[in-house]
Amino acid sequence: MSGFMSGTGAAKKAAQSNRGGGGRRHAEHAVQPAPAGVAQPAVCVRVALPTPRRQAFDYLAGEAIAPGCRVRVPLAGRRVVGVVIDVEPHDRHAGPLRAVEARIDAEPILPPDVLALLAWAAGYYHHGIGEVLLGALPKPLRLGRMPERRRAQHVRATADAAAALPRLARAPAQRRALGRLLELGSCASDQFAALGLDPRALAALAARGLVERVDAASPAPVVPPAAPLVLTADQAVAVAALAAAAGFGCHLLEGVTGSGKTEVYLRAIERVVAAGGQALVLVPEIALTPQALARFAARFARTAVTHSGLADGERTEAWLAAAAGDVDVLVGTRSAVFAPLPRLALIVVDEEHDASFKQQDGFRYSARDVAVKRARLRDVPVVLGSATPSFETLHNVERGRYACLPLRSRPGSATLPALHVEDIRGVELKAGMSQRLRAAIGAQLAAGNQVLVFRNQRGYAPALACAACGWLADCSHCDARMTLHLQPPGLVCHHCDMRAPVPAHCPQCGEAVLASRGFGTERLEEVLAGAFPGFEVLRFDRDVARSRERLERRLERAASGVPMVLVGTQLLAKGHHFPAVTLSVIVNADAGLFAPDYRAPERTAQVITQVAGRAGRAERPGVVWLATHHPEHPVIEALRAGGYAAFARAALAERAAIGLPPHAASALLRGDARDAAKAQSVLAGLAQAARAFATPGVRVRGPVAAPLARRAGRYRLQVWLLAQARPALHRALAHVAARIDALPRGSVRVGIDVDPVDTF
Ligand SMILES: [Zn+2]
Ligand SMILES: [Zn+2]
Repeated sequence: MSGFMSGTGAAKKAAQSNRGGGGRRHAEHAVQPAPAGVAQPAVCVRVALPTPRRQAFDYLAGEAIAPGCRVRVPLAGRRVVGVVIDVEPHDRHAGPLRAVEARIDAEPILPPDVLALLAWAAGYYHHGIGEVLLGALPKPLRLGRMPERRRAQHVRATADAAAALPRLARAPAQRRALGRLLELGSCASDQFAALGLDPRALAALAARGLVERVDAASPAPVVPPAAPLVLTADQAVAVAALAAAAGFGCHLLEGVTGSGKTEVYLRAIERVVAAGGQALVLVPEIALTPQALARFAARFARTAVTHSGLADGERTEAWLAAAAGDVDVLVGTRSAVFAPLPRLALIVVDEEHDASFKQQDGFRYSARDVAVKRARLRDVPVVLGSATPSFETLHNVERGRYACLPLRSRPGSATLPALHVEDIRGVELKAGMSQRLRAAIGAQLAAGNQVLVFRNQRGYAPALACAACGWLADCSHCDARMTLHLQPPGLVCHHCDMRAPVPAHCPQCGEAVLASRGFGTERLEEVLAGAFPGFEVLRFDRDVARSRERLERRLERAASGVPMVLVGTQLLAKGHHFPAVTLSVIVNADAGLFAPDYRAPERTAQVITQVAGRAGRAERPGVVWLATHHPEHPVIEALRAGGYAAFARAALAERAAIGLPPHAASALLRGDARDAAKAQSVLAGLAQAARAFATPGVRVRGPVAAPLARRAGRYRLQVWLLAQARPALHRALAHVAARIDALPRGSVRVGIDVDPVDTF
């Protein structure tokens, strides 16, 4: 009975060792160039290759190779894998060409619609077609392999399982696995990792007779929910609007946390899947917990998941299954926007305002914007969901380009939390918390509720200083302070990840008393645990999330509803549901209010609203405390008076008045080098070229130092381009891109960032 578990591991090994030309369908064919003197029709194929060069490369082939097929070609003394993007008769090409060495695929692995999308993205973001195309493939495919697809095995809980659940108290791993499996109905072996099912625990459950294998050759695609929910009036309107949508259309599903956006997605996807279509669901990385995924997997038997936390083999399997049409719903992070889906009929982007949809290095694309483009190319609807929509999206609603589907009420009797602004000027604080605030937290705990404390700074303290001479622990590679961590102890640079031990004495004056300055989540955890000894304090931040299992255990512990304090960063503000939380606290909102980036107020308002949304779910009303030295700051006043919508309306009008995005199009040239003078001269040259070429509607500013002027030993500069009309911006960028390509290779790196989301 337990044999099916061990079989999974063996299949995985076989798939991993299957390098190059494994599958029968994908045996490599040597491609013969036309022998000299023989008049044989030859073709020229244009190949995208894994190099930063912006253009594709031409090769000679004895036969036409369809675009989307991989080939092996010589490049600068190496053999590399590339993707054919175009074919034309050889006689149109001047000059000698090298020959394609081998054709890897008989059939294209990238279908025409995905190729077209990638080509558009390479053009729009002014990035090399090779890195864009190859980057869209899972790693084994990028390396020229074709892993054998393995047939997933499905498991489910047996009839006795639910009754046996309480008996598993002393086997927590098995209890968790069984609980999850009961929620899911059944689960395919290739989804165990994504859905947090431990194969060893499942094997042990199988040995107890609580889990069995099911033959799921043709599972019903849509599984009706055990207890069908009654939709609110707003949900019903949104569901009906999406059902009536035909062809391309962009719909903003605007609803506060807890207003039931997911149920609207699920209903819309149900229709699509029942009609034989596929749905693509993009989510921020941070929200991708097994709990969140379980809702999709429980409803749609053929759900696949892909994100960077999974092993290459699992990601590849999801990609291949989606491409083969064996998946009805693909849930994934950013890069899933490029996955082939032959029957794609609906795209959902959840938490569309989330900054993680924008890739922050290399190919700097916005998965949300690419998703909208993909929907347009495929002529299918796209749904953007958010409680705090991005200004770009709100602007498109204002202009009538996007339809808005508001979800105003929360299902059930839950009401929105009240915002209490706590003026902390002149007040004695402990880790940012006043005596009044600590008393408010204590009262909620005593009443059996949970409290959430938000602080967007991990570690113990953002700085370590000498009280005697003023020395500060700086990173030697960045213009930044080292952060003090206690678990494990050490100084860490959050920009370059450099680590150093905590010095016993001041390195400058020898004084032994070094003191931390400011506070992070570790310090808050310490202070809260000391103040409320009878209650648990659970911390959630990137340091905790390094172990997915630990993060999940903590989330489940929080979901139990036991009175406790949850303290953490963004990780707490996004996606997770904590029904027992009745008080949300933002201990210091001030840093975000005065950041140099013009987008800082938008982001701060989003975070405050998202944190506020954690409080007061279900039948318990919630309260939000916002501690600030600037209670009359316009962002806070606007939020207090009219919530995010009122704030956004005012802030958008302000941006329009001074011609900032989304009322203008913008791009950054980002350059860095070890030698500051070299970076300055290259960026100044590019700025000058942009100015000389730019039409009157384009403004060019810089070069100026980036807000973090030195990072990991490299000096960073930027040039900002701002245009009233997008075509003018793209013409200027194309001109600059040609200049960048002509730069000598090496010391100065320059990248183009179209529609930047931050200037850091
Ligand atoms: Zn000192
Ligand atoms: Zn550093």
